[in-house]
Amino acid sequence: MRMMILAVSMGVAVVGLSSCSQVELPGRPPKTARGLPHQPLPPMQFDWPQDKQVGVSLSFDDARTSQVDVGAPLLSSYGVKATFYVSVAPLRERLADWKAVLAAGHEIGNHSLRHACTGNFPFAREKALEDCTLEQMAAELDRANAEIEGLLGVRPVTFAYPCGQKFVGRGVEVKSYVPVVASRFLAGRGWRDEMANNPAFCDLAQLLGLDLDGLTWEQLKALIDQARERHGWLVLGGHEIGQGGRQTTRMDTLRSFCEYAQDPKNGVWVDTVANISRYIAEHRVALGRDRAGSLAVARR
Ligand SMILES: [Zn+2]
Repeated sequence: MRMMILAVSMGVAVVGLSSCSQVELPGRPPKTARGLPHQPLPPMQFDWPQDKQVGVSLSFDDARTSQVDVGAPLLSSYGVKATFYVSVAPLRERLADWKAVLAAGHEIGNHSLRHACTGNFPFAREKALEDCTLEQMAAELDRANAEIEGLLGVRPVTFAYPCGQKFVGRGVEVKSYVPVVASRFLAGRGWRDEMANNPAFCDLAQLLGLDLDGLTWEQLKALIDQARERHGWLVLGGHEIGQGGRQTTRMDTLRSFCEYAQDPKNGVWVDTVANISRYIAEHRVALGRDRAGSLAVARR
């Protein structure tokens, strides 16, 4: 009887062991819960140039007149370079002024030709993303680049998604147009996202962009401090530049920001979306990622 009990208990032990085939054994690579091989990720660290601790890019959309009237001159007076994602029609109306903005060292980016957004916006009903195709978006972005190059003599290398939206189509037919942007531009900027970009990890084709309009200096400073804690890249997008009001970046906020960024002890690198994107693409190769941010080395 005692022998039988021993035999039964051994059988249970064997069954129990065979049902635990996921147990990690010494010398074997660890497995995830789904049994896929687990590759250790490279450390999420990234060094900004020299003694910088945080990257900040200011960008402004739609070629609003206040950008050339007051915004660009204010930034230029502090030596701060920004990115202007222009719409073609207003660019043409103030062409001489926009040429001066470009000559001052600011970046001119692509913001599409028709500014297609979801048709839930009444202004976008006739050019709704829900009714667009990838081929139409590709043709539109190429046309906008050609028109901007024809007017200013420079071809945009970064793009800002109108309304921050990145899709075409409806329901099961929805497609992302991020690949259309990724194949044409060094970077694509979103809008009304929630946080700074991790320069070691971020997808340059869909950079997180935060709303700059309406922020007080205290609010903007808090965003910079958060980004600095992670050595991040804060990308901001605004529209009008003035005293305040709807879709307007405050002049007093910009002035305070420029003064703060000028002080070396604050460790802020302010530059255009294109310049910081180039730096990230080139420097994270050393971290085992390719220029797009994929784990190039780890996959080999
Ligand atoms: Zn816009």
